[in-house]
Amino acid sequence: EPPNLNTVPPTITSHVVAIPYPGRGHINPMMNLTKILVSKNPNILITFVVTEEWLSFIGSEPKPNNIQFATIPNVIPSEEGRANDFVNFLESVMTKMEDPFERLLDRLEPPPSVIIHDSYLAWVVRVANKRNVPVASFWPMSSSFFLVLKHYQLLEQNEVGDKRVDYIPGNSSIRLVDFPLKDASFRSRRLLQLALATIPWAEKSQYLLFPSIYELEPQAIDVLRQELSIPIYTIGPTIPYLTHNQVVSTNHDYINWLDNQPLGSVLYVSQGSFLSVSSEQIDEIANGLRESGVRFLWVMRGESSNWKNICGDKGFVLPWCDQLKVLMHSAIGGFWSHCGWNSTREGLFCGVPFLTFPIMMDQPLNSKYIVEDWKVGWRVEKEVKVNVLIRRDEIARLVRRFMDLDDYEVKEMRKRARELQQVCQSSIASGGSSENNMEEFLGHILHGAK
Ligand code: UDP
Repeated sequence: EPPNLNTVPPTITSHVVAIPYPGRGHINPMMNLTKILVSKNPNILITFVVTEEWLSFIGSEPKPNNIQFATIPNVIPSEEGRANDFVNFLESVMTKMEDPFERLLDRLEPPPSVIIHDSYLAWVVRVANKRNVPVASFWPMSSSFFLVLKHYQLLEQNEVGDKRVDYIPGNSSIRLVDFPLKDASFRSRRLLQLALATIPWAEKSQYLLFPSIYELEPQAIDVLRQELSIPIYTIGPTIPYLTHNQVVSTNHDYINWLDNQPLGSVLYVSQGSFLSVSSEQIDEIANGLRESGVRFLWVMRGESSNWKNICGDKGFVLPWCDQLKVLMHSAIGGFWSHCGWNSTREGLFCGVPFLTFPIMMDQPLNSKYIVEDWKVGWRVEKEVKVNVLIRRDEIARLVRRFMDLDDYEVKEMRKRARELQQVCQSSIASGGSSENNMEEFLGHILHGAK
């Protein structure tokens, strides 16, 4: 339904239409970006476009006055369908939402001054260019990964083995195994093709926005600014709370549990919100964590109750938590992560070192930045392979050492994590790189785009 236009304040000078990819890890950063924009200027109206299903998930969440929701019908598979067949879900997102979005645009008043879209919804660029509306492409991953996909043809030499590759612009040398490769499973291959297809469209947008920090990947941003003629903005973490002080006081049992654990003693374990690891691997992780003797909080979708017994009394297992709140808790001393880009930014902004366990797409590359470039984490893998089964005794040994506060390397890594946290926070403070980029982008929105 079109938004209720009677509520549009008369002072509105810019109407921003924001359309995120339908998934939590995409909607949250996009919503936070729009919250930042309206908090900076009350004359901006945001129309935030989601499917009807997603409105029922997020419609009741608190949002500032100048943000309104508009919906398009459920033309893509439901969330349940996404879990069953992710490739089909992504293909639908990339093909079926265009027509209903155009029909919605026809009805919007005032007409949009700019459209911000998740780069995975590549067709939005086509729609916006056709209507002569400037479009800002919000790339939901790192800028370094954007460059990997942009220059993917350089990898077409079918290289194999443990080699490192040093010819991807803007990136230091990368192990071949850390690329999303075409010889992977069908699902990974198809996801790679779909991701590759988004790049030329993102390049046809008028602005490219990265939920990233210049200081984290300066070479990649510098190269992109040389290669593309559009403004490239690193707009900061786009993490709720950290930019908006919205910590809602909650009384979760896991936070109460954390309150009673010693400072920096708990390992937080999460493999992300979907596409997880095999059940054999989960079994090894559960037993490895228990054998390590370390305290841990483990987010496990699905049958988590089955794992509670295996994990013993030092482990707290639950199906979902407020991850940011957990990472900000002083009892947390480490983050076992699959290295999704959201989790990577959240860990960095909370100053927590990582144990990395990436699975696919950009995750191995994010793990590479964490371990090799930023030096705020260790890999869980012992071999140069991505999907190998890691055994419980290796996990136990690694976890024990990672959480050992007397270990010199661990102390150094925790120190670096705090330093990097400082760098990230300075970037969103007044005069910081992310803040400056955000202001510049805002200027374009308010004073007419090119
Ligand atoms: N998340 C959360 N609670 C959980 C697990 C995940 O709040 O129990 C959030 C997490 O903070 C992050 C997002 O879900 O913002 C996951 O995004 P990410 O890019 O890390 O991984 P994905 O799940 O998209 O692979």
